[in-house]
Amino acid sequence: MTERNLLMIPGPIEFEPSVLRALGEKTRGHLDPVFMKAFSRTIKRLREVFQAPGAQPFVVAGSGTLAMEMAVANLLQHGDRALVVNTGYFSDRIGAMCERHGASVTHVRAAPGSIPSLEEVEKALTGASFKVMTITHVDTSTAVLAPVRELTALGKKHGALVIVDGVCSVGGEALEMEAWGVDVAFTASQKALGAPPGLAVLLAGPKALAAWKARSKPVAAMYLDFAEWLPIHEAYEAEKPSYYATPAVNLITALDVSLGHLVEEGMAARVARHERIASEFHAAWKAMGLSHLPAENCRAHTLSALLYPSGVDATLVGKIAKQGVTVAGGLHPELKTKYFRVGHMGAVTMNDVSAVTAAIKRALG
Ligand SMILES: *Cc1c(COP(=O)(O)O)cnc(C)c1O
Repeated sequence: MTERNLLMIPGPIEFEPSVLRALGEKTRGHLDPVFMKAFSRTIKRLREVFQAPGAQPFVVAGSGTLAMEMAVANLLQHGDRALVVNTGYFSDRIGAMCERHGASVTHVRAAPGSIPSLEEVEKALTGASFKVMTITHVDTSTAVLAPVRELTALGKKHGALVIVDGVCSVGGEALEMEAWGVDVAFTASQKALGAPPGLAVLLAGPKALAAWKARSKPVAAMYLDFAEWLPIHEAYEAEKPSYYATPAVNLITALDVSLGHLVEEGMAARVARHERIASEFHAAWKAMGLSHLPAENCRAHTLSALLYPSGVDATLVGKIAKQGVTVAGGLHPELKTKYFRVGHMGAVTMNDVSAVTAAIKRALG
């Protein structure tokens, strides 16, 4: 495979060359004023990207799964109840994590490729008192987009803290964390934020921080505990030296550059671009006779999950790679040999749409 293959999986994605250049800069000390400035800017830019001026950002070395576990570990204690709006593989993961942290978990499930109705979710919320409700904004296993705004309103109405797994959405799908009342949202550097893998990114709103402060016992794992990370992030934001665990200097420097591109484009324009590109892809899939896994009312704009046409199997993914484009196979355990996935988030352009659809056509032919 040449270095010019296009990486079109749902993370990691193709980055802007300026992001990679930042990654390759000389590693500075973690208390170097230049790095402290970059970290401070990263924290401020994250509030803009998540549209949450009153939230506290955390950027910790790890992947999206670490961000997920930080959310769960800080908000839940033994005996709490959690409601999981389950749209696939990553909803299963957060449900399992809530259980591991001592919560009793109720899932509101839908068939793969669809979303539970608001009525079903409200019925479950009425049935018990939930400390937390979780929503997977885009379930990357099925490309299902959940209606976060409406679901969050329901969660709030019934007194639950709302956690949004935005790993495949933040920076690509509309998410107004503060206006919609989302308490915790998290993502990872390698998805629509457009930086290399290695950083867990989480924003906690005031109610989430209050719930964490009101815990009867500290978080068992020190690396996950807001108590360890909050003073560090406050200090870095103020460009003051402090240390708990060495920050991933180069990755944060690269993320800062990428977030600069997001903020410059503007979140509304960025979401609109993702919608335009998704509809361009959808038109191409239709023209090629490819069908979506997700139902029409819940298709993400950050990736497509497409069923293999009859007579075609999972070897298609390798054939597409030979045509110069890397796409991903299926992930949902019940269906994974039946579909493939094309990521279209971040710095993706209309030229990529042409290149990707042409490669898939050649591979099918
Ligand atoms: C990728 C992804 C995760 C996991 O992130 P990692 O960085 O792979 O740990 C969690 N949730 C969603 C929705 C994802 O797309």
